[in-house]
Amino acid sequence: MEEEIQETDKQEETNYQNMSEKEWKQRLTAEQYQILRNKSTDRAFTGPFVGNKATGIYVCAGCGLELFLSDTKFDSNSGWPSFFQTINQDNVGLVIDRTHGMTREEVICKRCLGHLGHVFNDGPAPTGLRYCINGTSLKFNEIVNDIHTNT
Ligand SMILES: [Zn+2]
Repeated sequence: MEEEIQETDKQEETNYQNMSEKEWKQRLTAEQYQILRNKSTDRAFTGPFVGNKATGIYVCAGCGLELFLSDTKFDSNSGWPSFFQTINQDNVGLVIDRTHGMTREEVICKRCLGHLGHVFNDGPAPTGLRYCINGTSLKFNEIVNDIHTNT
C-alpha cells in the first residue's frame, strides 16, 4: 500500500529542483517516478482520477503544489483526467515538446519540474484548453463541505 505523506509548511522550503534522482526514487512510487521524472504516460483509462467527480484540489504527487481544482475538471472521454484551467498560472509551466513526431505543449509542475501531461486547444469554454494530465502525477485532496452543519 502507498504511504500517505503529510505535506507540511516545512516541505515548502525543500528545493525540489536540486533533488537527486535517487532521492526522487525514494520519494515516489515506481509508477509516479516513471511519469513525473521520465515523462512516461499512463495508459488511457487505467490511471487514477479519470472518473473522479469529488470536490477537491489536485496537487502534484512529487511536491504537493496545488495544480487543479475539481471545478475545472471535465469529461473529455480521452482516458486521462482533463481540466480546462489551472488553479494558478504560476504553479504550472508549459514546455514545447517535439518528441514522437509531434509538436505539443508539455505541462510541468513549476516547483519540482515534474512531468504532468500535455495541453491541447480543443477544450471547452471558457478557456478552450484541455489539460490532459496523468492521474499518476497527481494526488487528490478531497474537500468535505461541512459549513452547513454548524447552524
Ligand atoms: Zn511538483
